[in-house]
Amino acid sequence: MKYDITVIGSGPGGYVCAIRAAQLGLKVALAEKYSTLGGTCLNVGCIPSKALLDSSEHYHNAIHRFADHGITATGVSAHLDQMVARKNQVVDQTCKGVEFLMKKNKVDVYIGTASFVTKNKIAIAGTDGVKEIETDKVIIATGSKPAMPAMFNYDKNRVISSTEALNITKIPSKMVVVGGGVIGLELGSVFARLGTAVEVVEYMDSILPAMDSDCARELMKSLKKLGMNFHLGHSVTGVKATKSSCTVSVKKNNTEEAFEIKADYCLVAIGRRPYTEGLNLEGAGLQTDDKGRIPVNEHLETQVAGIFAIGDVVKGAMLAHKAEEEGMFVAEYIAGGKPHIDHNLIPGVVYTWPEMAAVGKTEEELKSAGIPYKSGKFMFKALGRSRASMDTDGLVKVLSHKDTDELLGVHMVGPRVADVIMEAVALMEFRASAEDMARICHPHPTYTEAVKEAAMDATAKRAIHM
Ligand code: FAD
Ligand code: NAD
Repeated sequence: MKYDITVIGSGPGGYVCAIRAAQLGLKVALAEKYSTLGGTCLNVGCIPSKALLDSSEHYHNAIHRFADHGITATGVSAHLDQMVARKNQVVDQTCKGVEFLMKKNKVDVYIGTASFVTKNKIAIAGTDGVKEIETDKVIIATGSKPAMPAMFNYDKNRVISSTEALNITKIPSKMVVVGGGVIGLELGSVFARLGTAVEVVEYMDSILPAMDSDCARELMKSLKKLGMNFHLGHSVTGVKATKSSCTVSVKKNNTEEAFEIKADYCLVAIGRRPYTEGLNLEGAGLQTDDKGRIPVNEHLETQVAGIFAIGDVVKGAMLAHKAEEEGMFVAEYIAGGKPHIDHNLIPGVVYTWPEMAAVGKTEEELKSAGIPYKSGKFMFKALGRSRASMDTDGLVKVLSHKDTDELLGVHMVGPRVADVIMEAVALMEFRASAEDMARICHPHPTYTEAVKEAAMDATAKRAIHM
């Protein structure tokens, strides 16, 4: 069989690329090594984690927040096995949706591990043997796997990654989370809401060290109220596990201070690494860089003409929507279009409660680049909508250029900011100023009013409600 495009990997990068290429009239094959389509995001990432976040949030609200609203809920109990079963149903439906879309768009799906024979010939090893297909272009969308240094003694039983954490069916008494990044805080929240004592060990002096430090500090205050405990500036020096528990050795950085934490689980969430095993990149004349990523140029084309790479396996944020944008970009580029992605405007969201979201540059980045800026803030506690829902933790920060007032970065932690951030993304895509943001009429009462107020604060310290 001969194809115009073969996409390797069916995550949000790969399957979106396959659909867009098919829409543009190209003959497309998609190879996926697992029997379900959708990659990390649909199977063991975005979707299952959000399903458990939603279930645990309902439980937490029933126990801790209903009473303030005048609701008495007696006999409320959490059944993690049912939460996981519901999560599995959501995953199943979502993955089947991708299968349907492949059929609808006449994409030929091959289940098996794809590897390069040459740059134009791909072997796919499945349960029914090895098939070879010819292809004009290849898109590598093989994603990433959890980073798991050997010192953690990862046994998938007591020392686990996010993949195993999503399938725990009995509420643990205690969990150590290594890494105060996105996965650590999201999954840590799930268990903390269900009553697990969660201890986060983070190497840096802040959670979410790459995000806005004011927002990270505010989020940490909220997560402490939830009962999560933080050891910032600490390292794990070893983990020992038995069949039923584990002991994590922790040391304060640059000191001799050390202690042990015994827990049911140690969840290691210290980042993810690009995944290229089994691809036989050498068969196509390709190499990875020192971080294991596939190097690409501004068109996402590798050193070998006709082979492209997208998503977690290349540089940039490891986010599903970034992979999708790159998938569409490559399909349109190959079909002769002139697509565009602004990687500076890929928003990032942390689905804790309150949520945290950001787009553009942080203050730290602007300072180190020597870019002059103005900053405006607004606290959710001053907003009527927040008081009505009793979601008063958090703030919005707007950063704009000191001279031109162009929006440079918007950072927020607060209720539903995963959705609120889109206003900032859209305005920044059109290169709006903080003054534009401040002058747009925002519906009352909504959480979005905090954005307008922060923009008014940034332009002329003229926020109305603070
Ligand atoms: P992947 O989704 O990793 O897909 C790659 C696919 O390639 C896999 O299915 C793999 O089996 C397949 N493959 C690999 N090698 C081969 C081969 N040789 N042959 C055939 N197939 C192969 N991102 C967000 O934006 N929002 C979130 O809320 C979010 N939550 C997350 C929660 C968790 C717990 C995790 C782990 C990740 C989360 N992410 C989130 C990150 C997101 O899942 C990834 O950024 C995204 O899935 C990357 O997409 P991708 O297409 O590049 O790769
Ligand atoms: P991360 O990069 O977000 O966080 C890892 C954290 O671990 C960092 O704070 C880092 O300082 C810390 N760390 C690193 N080594 C350590 C060590 N030895 N000891 C203690 N702390 C250590 O990585 P993650 O949370 O594993 O997530 C992986 C990727 O998945 C991220 O790139 C993220 O973008 C993506 N993801 C996104 C979402 C979302 O968009 N909501 C959710 C989950 C995952």
